[in-house]
Amino acid sequence: MISEKMLELGKKSSVIREIFEYGRVRKAEIGAENVFDFSLGNPSVPAPQKVTEVMNRLIAETPAEILHGYTSGPGDIKVRTAIAEYIKSRFNVNADAGLIYMTCGAAASLTVTLNAITEAGDEVIAFAPFFPEYRVFVEQAGAKFVPVSCKTEDLQIDFELLEKSITPSTKAVIINSPNNPSGVIVPESDIIKLAKLLEDKQNEYGKEIFLISDEPYRELVFTGEKVAYIPAYYDNSFVCYSYSKALSLPGERIGYIFVSPTMKECRDVFAAVCGSGRALGYVCAPSLMQYTVAECLDDTADVSVYEENRRILYDGLTDIGYTVIKPDGAFYMFVKSLDESAYKFYERAKKFELLLVPSDDFGCPGFVRIAYCVDTDLIKRSLSAFKELYEDYKNE
Ligand code: PLP
Repeated sequence: MISEKMLELGKKSSVIREIFEYGRVRKAEIGAENVFDFSLGNPSVPAPQKVTEVMNRLIAETPAEILHGYTSGPGDIKVRTAIAEYIKSRFNVNADAGLIYMTCGAAASLTVTLNAITEAGDEVIAFAPFFPEYRVFVEQAGAKFVPVSCKTEDLQIDFELLEKSITPSTKAVIINSPNNPSGVIVPESDIIKLAKLLEDKQNEYGKEIFLISDEPYRELVFTGEKVAYIPAYYDNSFVCYSYSKALSLPGERIGYIFVSPTMKECRDVFAAVCGSGRALGYVCAPSLMQYTVAECLDDTADVSVYEENRRILYDGLTDIGYTVIKPDGAFYMFVKSLDESAYKFYERAKKFELLLVPSDDFGCPGFVRIAYCVDTDLIKRSLSAFKELYEDYKNE
């Protein structure tokens, strides 16, 4: 009577959501300040004041039929032009408004892109650890999800394994740098290597392999490390951008897809993106938010708080004795589980009111993810709980 597949998806919430809900109940029981909730990647710093000012002015001054009206399906042309100009000047690549599609955040950008390019039998590669929704998005598009593990010591691309995983059915590779859940940034040298490998494979198989750059965390970089702009290195590339984290606007659902003009038959690919947006119901992204971001392209939320949190947490955890993959960006930290089962470790951490996410759903067992987009004070206070947890293991 109804779709079994959708029923299953709807009933089975993600582990992250489950932990978040547990946290909600626990906070009501013992007080929010006593629960060290590191479960969710919800930005903890407010959107820049400029965003509020621009929104207020737009609301006050824009005629209602424009402010609340539909834009054209792919988005308002002035907004798309502003974004294309911004991409050109910031990244020194070619771009034009006719290849920008406004969407509801990176999630919609990914589903629209994947549905535009894949057909039954296609395979889509993602590097593990990965954002768990990738599997849902890829499978919903009718393709096969192919996770490829990163090197365990630094969670960077394992090129040997990647090469073995690319087949004549590979349609796309998703890259996410800075990464959720690890915070790792892929160095430019690896991007060059990746582009070369994909080009070689395209030539070998005589077909396109797309590179999809999922970049909600592009602006969250703490080390001065260069985050390579994929279209500058690889022709058949898409950028799925989002303002959720850059401007701290996850609830406003705004982002875009950029189809690189260097892509073969890019106009047809863009038409397929429009068709996919239409089929999925992702047309006319929220008007007010389109107009707002167009005026805030060079702005970000104050991400220095995340940098401070990262420093305190990394130093604190490594001092205690934990093994931590040092994150260069985003607001996540990947910590080696003290238990063989990350799930058991997560359960034991709960006894100390620490809510950590076991890494199994990220396709990389043996770790927990800490989302440190929380109050700095909570981070400082959590360190004694982490110490007790550590000693609990050492004393058993
Ligand atoms: N991709 C990654 C890696 C994410 O971490 C997230 C959200 O946390 C998304 C995509 C979806 O972001 P958005 O809120 O822009 O839809």
